[in-house]
Amino acid sequence: MGGMFIDIGIPEDYKTAQHSIPEWIKKEKKPALFIDKDGTIIEDTGYTHGPKITIIKETTEVLKKYSQKGYHIIMITNQAGIAKNKFTIQDMTDNIDSIVNYYKKEGVIFDDIEYCLYHPQAEIKEYKYISLLRKPEPGMLLKASEKIKIDFASSIFFGDNKKIDNINLPYLKSIIR
Ligand SMILES: [Mg+2]
Repeated sequence: MGGMFIDIGIPEDYKTAQHSIPEWIKKEKKPALFIDKDGTIIEDTGYTHGPKITIIKETTEVLKKYSQKGYHIIMITNQAGIAKNKFTIQDMTDNIDSIVNYYKKEGVIFDDIEYCLYHPQAEIKEYKYISLLRKPEPGMLLKASEKIKIDFASSIFFGDNKKIDNINLPYLKSIIR
């Protein structure tokens, strides 16, 4: 937490807190560029995994721009291939590491990376689950917002699939203070 302390047991401080706390929260929050992985950051080869990646160059320019603007850069990716036994968590990690390393050289750091391992038609029993983490559900974004203060109203979701990447950010703003 930051260095501010207000004793709301003191009437004057309580009065101050009514406006200073919301202002402080607002100032602390920055917008995020939430970004999908497969088909957005890298070419989607179908259950894309492993260290070999093909970067989508146009996306690099977008990430550089928003990173320089001060947006949090947060990767949000459904990884049903693990539930469906197409590849392992290590294969996914190798894939993400390649992306992170490429972007580090481009001057872009990912503030957070969230992935969903679950799928209702999973082959692996422990991942057979209707999860609120799986896009288009907003769970991964909420999970990120527990770690990083995010201003959802001015955030953007950048993806390649209208059905699952079109997450209602103003709605999240209405439920997250
Ligand atoms: Mg995609």
